[in-house]
Amino acid sequence: MSQPFWKQMLILMLVMFLFNAYYAYLAQQGAQTAEISYSRFRSELTTDNIKKIGLKGAVISGEFRAKIKVSEQRQGKVAVREVSSFSTVLPAIADQTLMPDLTAHNVEVTATSMEPSFLVTALISVAPWLIIIGIWWMGMRAMRSQGPGGMLGGFAKSGARTYTTQEKVSVTFEDVAGMENSKQELKEIVDYLRNPKQFERIGGKVPKGVLLVGPPGTGKTLLARAVAGEAGVTFFSISASQFIEMFVGVGASRVRDLFANAKKAAPSIIFIDELDAVGRSRGAGIGGGHDEREQTLNQLLSEMDGFDQHEEVIVLAATNRPDVLDPALLRPGRFDRHVVIERPDWRDREKILQVHVRKIALADGIDLSVVARGTPGMTGADLENLVNEAAILASREDAAAVTMEHLEKAKDKILMGGERKMFITPEEKRITAYHEAGHTLVARLLPGTDPIHKVTIIPRGLALGVTQQLPEDDRYHYPQSYLEKRLTVTMGGRVAERLVFGEVSTGAQSDLKVVTDLAEKMVCQWGMSEKVGAMTFSRGEEHPFLGMKLAEEKSFSEAMAWRIDQEISALIRKAEQQAEGLLSANRAKLDLLAEALQAEETLDGARVDEIIGRNA
Ligand code: ADP
Ligand code: ZN
Repeated sequence: MSQPFWKQMLILMLVMFLFNAYYAYLAQQGAQTAEISYSRFRSELTTDNIKKIGLKGAVISGEFRAKIKVSEQRQGKVAVREVSSFSTVLPAIADQTLMPDLTAHNVEVTATSMEPSFLVTALISVAPWLIIIGIWWMGMRAMRSQGPGGMLGGFAKSGARTYTTQEKVSVTFEDVAGMENSKQELKEIVDYLRNPKQFERIGGKVPKGVLLVGPPGTGKTLLARAVAGEAGVTFFSISASQFIEMFVGVGASRVRDLFANAKKAAPSIIFIDELDAVGRSRGAGIGGGHDEREQTLNQLLSEMDGFDQHEEVIVLAATNRPDVLDPALLRPGRFDRHVVIERPDWRDREKILQVHVRKIALADGIDLSVVARGTPGMTGADLENLVNEAAILASREDAAAVTMEHLEKAKDKILMGGERKMFITPEEKRITAYHEAGHTLVARLLPGTDPIHKVTIIPRGLALGVTQQLPEDDRYHYPQSYLEKRLTVTMGGRVAERLVFGEVSTGAQSDLKVVTDLAEKMVCQWGMSEKVGAMTFSRGEEHPFLGMKLAEEKSFSEAMAWRIDQEISALIRKAEQQAEGLLSANRAKLDLLAEALQAEETLDGARVDEIIGRNA
């Protein structure tokens, strides 16, 4: 039998209570005794009222022949009581006549040694060891009965209790904006959970595990909760990274706990967030210490296999890296159904905005579709954040409602980072102005680039200035020509600096990184170089587990590596030359833009057009 931690505590408290009760009983007995002064003792002795005494060091205790009355102070009141025995203390000044007097009055005298008895000494020296051994023994017992989790078995349990949430959710599909396809796919699960018996009678086959695949913040958790809400079943959730975070050996027992609880509450849904944290391919880890994760994963697999056909528990899991998952997880009977969740397009973004502006006071005449179109790539979470930021801005200004301007400002803050207060010399300002003007002018001069949305030389985030382009609609495919133009626009800043000041500054560093990464991807992943050809190379690919590049085994020759390097730098050089040609041919416009930027600090697309002329 396992003994949970609280039970052990309870037993300990019971023992302590018994001890207290015993002492209280002793004290009760002691009510017959009083502590009296030595002179009182002497006078009782003279009146022949002492029957016997015991001597122990300086303490004398004894019995009277007849009870005496003593008065004592108790809680501020004087109480009188009768006692039959007493104790008192021998004065430090030796009482030479005590012994003769005692014999004269026929008092029986016993003396006890001050030395504690052998038993007491032995007990005192052994007690701490007994306690330590006792605790160790209890721990061992807990370990044996709980398997992995061991002495920390209690932690494993309480961990599961605090980290997994179990709730009846009230969220429904109504609260999930857009995502019509995904909702449609999950509808079947809702139907099953609502009425499992009927579903089975018709012969429907329900997946036990469904994997929700999509980037962070796209609403996977929300959707899972909505499934539970629609079906009206209990929702258990845990994040897989929490399975393995606290103590080694706890993950597997948490999985066991979670499934046991969910089965008890069936019909129910288990939601595992960040499945890739435990579900990465076994043996794919770098370095040691992965046993823990593998144990957890194995436990998860065996729990899912352990479901019998009629267990009304559905496991939903979320990940944004389905490619790194262990193939065993994706086998039939496990997570064999995938629901892909994309970043919302602008129509869905508008719907998501509508859901979130319900909570705030909105001024009249707001067109959410404008905001939606201006936020490509943003997820549901980003949009929720945008609405929050706008509300914060409005309340800081004591405005009655959130206006378009607040939404616009919030959008800038999220897209470009918050404005930074810093001192900038006029010379630095001039350099930044030319740099940004370079990006802007190249973008305006090249047909087929994304329109300029805004350009600013107010420092934001880590950048001294920002040129922001926004596509007119969401793009899913990028043609090679588009990417090449992007390289040229990005080189525009650096080229403008060199053209005007004869040298480049450190401000162009992040541009160079962007350019190098993009060119590398074009050559190595998208096969956009003739000389290298339509092959993909692991070069330039982010490492799936660590999110960074690693020196991994090269699957291509040195000659190919050299050719790749040549092609990357050729792409970059071509872009630089193109930017140089454009800017030196339009130097007057560059000057105009840079001057306007120094004067106005921020220009929007329309103002840029005005400055350089519509048909630049
Ligand atoms: P994920 O699990 O994919 O990382 P979440 O489900 O946690 O994302 O989403 C975070 C928040 O973003 C949600 O709480 C919700 O408020 C908002 N959100 C995301 N997608 C939507 C959507 N389609 N409709 C409404 N709100 C959404
Ligand atoms: Zn730049």
